[in-house]
Amino acid sequence: MAQRKPIVAGNWKMNGSVELVSEIGSAINECKNEQVDIIIFPPAPLLLKVVEFGISVGTQTVSEFNSGAFTGELSAELAKQLGATHTLVGHSERRIIFGESNESVADKFAKAQENGLIPILCVGETEQQRDAQETEMVVAEQINAVISKLGIAALLNSVLAYEPVWAIGTGKTATPEQAQAVHKFIRDMLSKQSEHVGDTLQILYGGSVNDKNSKSLFIQPDIDGGLIGGASLKADAFVSICNSA
Ligand code: PGA
Repeated sequence: MAQRKPIVAGNWKMNGSVELVSEIGSAINECKNEQVDIIIFPPAPLLLKVVEFGISVGTQTVSEFNSGAFTGELSAELAKQLGATHTLVGHSERRIIFGESNESVADKFAKAQENGLIPILCVGETEQQRDAQETEMVVAEQINAVISKLGIAALLNSVLAYEPVWAIGTGKTATPEQAQAVHKFIRDMLSKQSEHVGDTLQILYGGSVNDKNSKSLFIQPDIDGGLIGGASLKADAFVSICNSA
């Protein structure tokens, strides 16, 4: 079995400030080590500030277009020029609030890779879908939209994040067993198409991860770190989550 290096990613959403970059940037620089990759996803105007701290940084979304008359959109090419290494694509808030479809998420995934950014593809079911036992179907559809556009090999240069919508920002974390079951489902599904992809793809868990529950999630065999929202805005909590990976 491949050794998959854990990632702890902090998704600041539309929060944070120049001061917070300094506070969290210094804390991360003190705890950085070879065992874990730490990446911050700040609001785009703070991108360069994070880069100045020598910390890996990504955008929370990118446009599926190259450039042009798309007021307010964020180009993957420019994000790369500014020092971004990664981008989230298909976060559930983008899908639900901003109406991103599986197809447009696949286009964004492609645009990120074309410009040398590593996409972190976010997938996950709503509470209603979980109750209707549709979790596996929903997650498979979200991943297959990317595979049918770009082929299974495109996943080699990407990361996946399983984030059940009902666990995001609610304090209702999936249990380690619930999360592991979906991660294993995803890995098995991918292994049927490419054993190498199934074996090597890093799959992060996200949804109310904090410094109390991170360890029990991260020790699961198919969980390779986390995508952290609320707790990534508190230096102490975020550092202790990084240390638990
Ligand atoms: P949360 O957010 O940790 O605040 O639940 C996770 C995310 O949305 O990526």
